[in-house]
Amino acid sequence: MTKSDDRVLVVGAGPVGLLAALGLARQGVDVTLIESGSAISQAPRASGYHPPTLGLLDRMGLIEDAREIAYRSEIIHFRFPSTGGIVPMSLAALSGRVAHPYFLHLGQHELAEIVLRHLERLPNFHMRWNTELVAFKDTGRGVRAGVDSADGPQVLEAGWMVGADGARSTVRRLVGLEFEGFTWPDRYVATNIRFDFEKYGFAPSNMIHDGSNWAIVTRLGREPLWRLTFGEDGDLPEENYMSRIPERFASILPGVDPCELVAAAPYRVHERAASSFRVGRVLLAGDAAHALNPIGGMGLTGGVFDAWHLSEALGAVIEGSHGEDVLDAYAAERKRVFVEVAASTAREHKKRVQQTDPAAIARNEEMLRLVARDPELTAIAMRDTFAIEGRSPLELVKEPEKAAPERAMAW
Ligand SMILES: Cc1cc2nc3c(=O)[nH]c(=O)nc-3n(C[C@H](O)[C@H](O)[C@H](O)COP(=O)(O)OP(=O)(O)OC[C@H]3O[C@@H](n4cnc5c(N)ncnc54)[C@H](O)[C@@H]3O)c2cc1C
Repeated sequence: MTKSDDRVLVVGAGPVGLLAALGLARQGVDVTLIESGSAISQAPRASGYHPPTLGLLDRMGLIEDAREIAYRSEIIHFRFPSTGGIVPMSLAALSGRVAHPYFLHLGQHELAEIVLRHLERLPNFHMRWNTELVAFKDTGRGVRAGVDSADGPQVLEAGWMVGADGARSTVRRLVGLEFEGFTWPDRYVATNIRFDFEKYGFAPSNMIHDGSNWAIVTRLGREPLWRLTFGEDGDLPEENYMSRIPERFASILPGVDPCELVAAAPYRVHERAASSFRVGRVLLAGDAAHALNPIGGMGLTGGVFDAWHLSEALGAVIEGSHGEDVLDAYAAERKRVFVEVAASTAREHKKRVQQTDPAAIARNEEMLRLVARDPELTAIAMRDTFAIEGRSPLELVKEPEKAAPERAMAW
């Protein structure tokens, strides 16, 4: 093998690209990470981490750093304004079953900064900011990537390329893959607000099931800053979404003190996956490979497990212990997990939270009450979040018939 065959070029310093780079660099692989921005993006995005993600951060030696700065919680509230009902569900039901039976709340940029600090300690890791992938060629023995950088256009060579460059992935486009699926007709609006939710009895995570006045309310971290995400008709003009926010807050949180709006952003939600997660020497991970509605936090949860499995599989190929079939196993398994677990779970969450039929809302409330009262049922209901880990590509090539874990959500 020539030297270039062993090097990996990772595109995109979001949480997924950084985690994939860390997994590879720790195996001794020479990794270059390019990022079009000048630093880790500070845009407010994911902020809640589920027990399986925390288990993975533990395996990667990152959990203590995350715990040091995150807000920890165990309770989620399912709130039903039409009946006044509140169903608290506790992750204590998972105690003794999993290592981390709680949620951590921290911005994904803070997680990304933790990972970057670990990477910067490794001599075989090279970070290039202000470097945007614009062109690409698979030479059969490696990849040639054309980049625009502060030093002008350059060509970077590597043995493999990982596309972790987000939902509008240039890598996906350059290798000619479709982003198959659909865009939901409604628009979501994410707001960051300062407000004393605890005074009104809210838990650190809340799903408000209320037809067109649905909302997801979560604490963002230790600071008393919260994310309230609501939906609106996608036909309303996007340019004046800010003017509608006060009225929407009043409908979603009637009779409460005014909130201080810190930031807001409208966005469309998709359910799409790349037609393949591997083309030759290029592998996709995270939002570059798949996109989801954010209710239930399946998007980044899936992405961090992509990064883990990809780094194991590609590390094994570079080390020479496995053939390239392990990369096909990665691509097929992560797509299966997206379709069978992540996408369907996120769709079910969306349907339930945005349900407008009063009878269906009442059935949902009753079902959640039954589940929340019984720790066994709570643990079963949480199973889909764990199923997003999927099967290891290294194990799948040894044991192709290894059964996938069963899905649990049935209501
Ligand atoms: C408002 C909002 C709220 C969300 N809330 C949640 C949530 O609660 N839970 C959850 O699980 N998920 C949530 N998500 C989704 C979550 O943010 C994404 O799943 C996550 O960011 C995916 O990480 P990534 O590393 O794959 O991609 P990104 O975080 O998008 O990172 C991609 C990186 O690639 C860089 N890049 C792009 N093109 C190039 C190029 N050509 N060359 C070099 N670099 C490039 C970008 O600058 C960026 O830094 C939310 C998303 C949004 C928008």
